[in-house]
Amino acid sequence: MQNIEIDPQTISITWTLLCTALVLLMQPGFTCLESGLVRNKNNINVALKNVADFCISGVCFWLIGYGLMYGASANGYFGTSQFALDSFDDPSVLAYFLFQMMFCGTAATILSGAVAERMRFSGYIICSFLTATVLFPVVGHWIWHGKHFEQFPLGWLLELGFIDYAGATVVHSVGGWIALIALIIVGPRLGRFTREGEPKEMFCQNLPLSALGTFLLFIGWFGFNGGSVSSPSTELARVFSNTALSACAGGVSALLLSWNLHSMQGIRYVLNGLLAGLVAISASADLVNLPSAIVIGAISGCISVLLADLLEKLNIDDVVSAVPVHLGGGIWGTISVALFVPLEKLQLNTHTEQLIVQLTGVFACAVWVCSIGFGFLWLVNQIHPLRVSAQTETIGLNFGEHGMKDELIDLMEQFDKIANSESSLKHLNVEHGSNNASLCMTYNYLLDHTSKHFKAREDELLRLASLDPLTGIANRRVYEQVMAETFELAQKQKTSFCLLVIDVDNFKQYNDHYGHQLGDYCLQNVCQALSSKLRVKKGLLARIGGEEFAIILPNTSQKTATSIAQDIRAAVRALEIPHSGGKDEFVTVSIGGATWASDQEVNPQQLFDDADMALFRAKAAGRNQVIFAGEE
Ligand code: GH3
Ligand code: MG
Ligand code: MG
Repeated sequence: MQNIEIDPQTISITWTLLCTALVLLMQPGFTCLESGLVRNKNNINVALKNVADFCISGVCFWLIGYGLMYGASANGYFGTSQFALDSFDDPSVLAYFLFQMMFCGTAATILSGAVAERMRFSGYIICSFLTATVLFPVVGHWIWHGKHFEQFPLGWLLELGFIDYAGATVVHSVGGWIALIALIIVGPRLGRFTREGEPKEMFCQNLPLSALGTFLLFIGWFGFNGGSVSSPSTELARVFSNTALSACAGGVSALLLSWNLHSMQGIRYVLNGLLAGLVAISASADLVNLPSAIVIGAISGCISVLLADLLEKLNIDDVVSAVPVHLGGGIWGTISVALFVPLEKLQLNTHTEQLIVQLTGVFACAVWVCSIGFGFLWLVNQIHPLRVSAQTETIGLNFGEHGMKDELIDLMEQFDKIANSESSLKHLNVEHGSNNASLCMTYNYLLDHTSKHFKAREDELLRLASLDPLTGIANRRVYEQVMAETFELAQKQKTSFCLLVIDVDNFKQYNDHYGHQLGDYCLQNVCQALSSKLRVKKGLLARIGGEEFAIILPNTSQKTATSIAQDIRAAVRALEIPHSGGKDEFVTVSIGGATWASDQEVNPQQLFDDADMALFRAKAAGRNQVIFAGEE
């Protein structure tokens, strides 16, 4: 067998590029994790932010970031050359640039999930730009300049002996701090906390997707930590096993602690715990032994749970727990270097000295990111608010920011149209096969059901409004309506009709004698007698007052009307209801009549007055009489 010699530079570059591709896998990881933790109305927005921030950070890092991070150092504080990668023909630089570009993309995207569901897309792009162009590269310069390539002077923190193997501070703390700053400036989502500051649980729509995202991040982390070993060696076994075990320990400790604190509802903390374990071990994956990695991961998992609870208490609404995971895990990982790395592998003589330097790095990173980040974002927020309007937040950023409709928005638009239309409620369109089909059909069914119910109630109300409650016949309202119709028809058809006005004689006396209750009973009997003689088709009997009735007789001559009136009068008399006046006195009615003929210029009111006048005359003539207007 022939031995093929591959030069070490090729191996190193190939390894770095492979790890670059693995780190890129963290981007779909973040996309799935965050899209799953937000409500459906915002998932497109979050996913788009993840894609956009990666593209923007890539271009910015190429143009400015890499130069600030790895260009010729100004006293260890920032780089001053290699902007737009002026030495692009060196394959080692190119490979390392790509690897660092992935780190930059990771730092820039941490923010997206934290401020999800209410930060403007444009504001978010500005944050990504700031992180990729200035915040991440400068911290990177302090800690990594001179570590990979021989470059002097070293970054000032590296010079002090600061250790951050794969970016617990450079990537995760930077991303975590800027997320915290943005969270404070943008404020919590509407409805996340009550007025009294009590937290309210918000739905996350797709936890399985978030779990998938977490696993993708886990896989990507092997590139993140593995690629930080400049070329493949046996050392990788330690790095990989530390990475994996720290992650698992973080997941276990977060699971147990959250289970203890929040019972089964805290179960999703396991995702945070796993990621926090990965973040923390990034600082020392090549330096600690396996038991230390497990302890570092376990403590990181607990920190992520406790920090998430603390943020909630402070009413800081971090949707995906980016701050607990990346800032909490990042700071802890950085400090844990001084506590767990064996002395011989440390840069300084004692653990205490190392701890002081590690804390100096944590502090310097905090001051740098918070001062620049807060100042810049505060200013941007004054000019161009970072938060969407309440309306956009309510309707969701998918539609509000990008005009991307979903079936729910479609349904809401249909409701809106129905509510704003003049006509009565309409059916919703049912698109068979859509998620909303059964909802629309249920709505349509309910609409039909309630419409039927309301129609029945309306008919009943109309009936009650037209009836006289005592006698059950038509009331004055119906009389007026029918009179107007009869009048109009008679005018049109040039026919005649008659009106009878009927009044119970001496009824006050009757009432006073027998009492109101028997008076009512008498009126009911009189009414029956009247209706029994109403022999004209479409004739109307109505009670128009206390003991007064009216009868409209369409298409009727005065002769027929007189005959009907006499029948009525006789029918009431025949009831033989004793009157209070004397032994042989019975309840009677007097009737006044009037006839409308097409050659007369008389309106309904005048016709009524004529009949009433005739009634008056019938009373005057001794009662129990029928007299028609115009008769002697
Ligand atoms: P006249 O022969 O001139 O018509 O004399 P009257 O007593 O019938 O006329 P008046 O208008 O003075 O009295 C009508 C009475 O009808 C007064 C009231 O007590 C009685 N009345 C009106 N509505 C009702 C009712 O709904 N129930 C009862 N029981 N009595 C009623
Ligand atoms: Mg009367
Ligand atoms: Mg009367």
